Order: sequence, then C-alpha cells, then structure tokens
Amino acid sequence: MNATTDRIRRQVSDLHHQLVRYGLVVWTAGNVSGRVPGEELFVIKPSGVPYDELTPGNMILCDLDGNVVEGEHAPSSDTAAHAYVYRHLPEVGGVVHTHSTYACAWAARGEAVPCVLTAMADEFGAEIPVGPFALIGDDSIGRGIVETLRGHRSPAVLMQSHGVFTIGRDAEAAVKAAVMCEDVARTVHLSRQLGEPLPIAQADIDRLNHRYQNVYGQKSVDR
Ligand SMILES: [Zn+2]
Repeated sequence: MNATTDRIRRQVSDLHHQLVRYGLVVWTAGNVSGRVPGEELFVIKPSGVPYDELTPGNMILCDLDGNVVEGEHAPSSDTAAHAYVYRHLPEVGGVVHTHSTYACAWAARGEAVPCVLTAMADEFGAEIPVGPFALIGDDSIGRGIVETLRGHRSPAVLMQSHGVFTIGRDAEAAVKAAVMCEDVARTVHLSRQLGEPLPIAQADIDRLNHRYQNVYGQKSVDR
C-alpha cells in the first residue's frame, strides 16, 4: 500500500458517513468510490457491510475493470458501473450512487428535475437528466451513466426507475453533487405540489453556472 492509496481509502471511507449524515441512504444501500490519482485503480465500499463498520482498512481496491486488487470483502454490487465510468470518463475522480428518496421519486416517473432555482443553475447548470432503465449485471448501467452525462453540465443522472449516480473531479465533489441533487429534487417536488415552477431563462442559467463554476469556484478547492 502506498500513501496515495491510503489517502483515498480514508477519504472514501469518511465520505460514506456523509451519505448517512445527509439522509441519502438506508441500510447498506449507496456507495462512494474514488480514483487513485496516477494509478489505474479506484477504491470502493465493500458489499453488505453496515455503514457503522466501514473503515479505511475494509474499503476495496479495484482495477478499472472492477476486479479486486486488495480487500477481504466482495466489492459493492455496483462496482462494474463505477469501473465503466472511470474507464470512459478520464476526468472523473469520484462516483457516488444512492437511492435518495426525492431523487428516486423523480426517477420512478422517468422525469428530469427542471432547472428552476438559481442554486440549481449554479451546481448543475441544467436540468438533472434521466438515464435509461438498465439492469445490474453487465455494463448497461455504466453505459447509461456515461452516455447521459458525457457532454452534459449536470454531474448527476437519475437512472430511470432506480436511483442517482453522480460524478466529480474527486469523491468529495461527487458526494456534494449527490447531496445537492437530493436537496433540489425535494424542493422542486414541493414546489410542484402548489403549481408549476417558473422557468429560468437559458441565458441566466448559463451566466449563473459560469460564475459559480469559474469565478466562485476558484476561491476554494472544496466548494
Ligand atoms: Zn442502486
């Protein structure tokens, strides 16, 4: 084990506790992974281990085909989807998957969350799109994530009838996107109960997103 791998193990383990803190997961559902910089490797949660028992030491180190390189447990059952994303989107350093409640309510209808709040324009720069219905077991979930998010501003995709996948330059950014995705899914859902949310003009969405991602973003690495 080297220092970089150890750092990513610790980061990925700690970030799983953020999923619990923000109410994005129940039981053992949900997972975070982080690419090991400079290596063809990523770190992901073990399958079926309760959140309270996750530690840097029991995280699983995998190669980019999803094969276990180091770890006592089986890796998360979503490992193939994470691996597919790392293979096809080299700029991605972190991936998160949750079944968070409000986002899943949109996914269950196969409906994108429209960009109707300035905070959403900041973070997502667009609607949060819907990816295809895909079953676990082969590359179809990973392919659906990549095909939906490649070239899209949103770092989050609602996989139809399933849940959320988010990407980021590192695992922390992907967790932030998962937290923000659930937050806006909840708010826009609540707004919908009383009428139709007002659209924001595309030019304003563009302006907000540019400012947040380029000007505001440079002030702090950990936005
Ligand atoms: Zn899932």
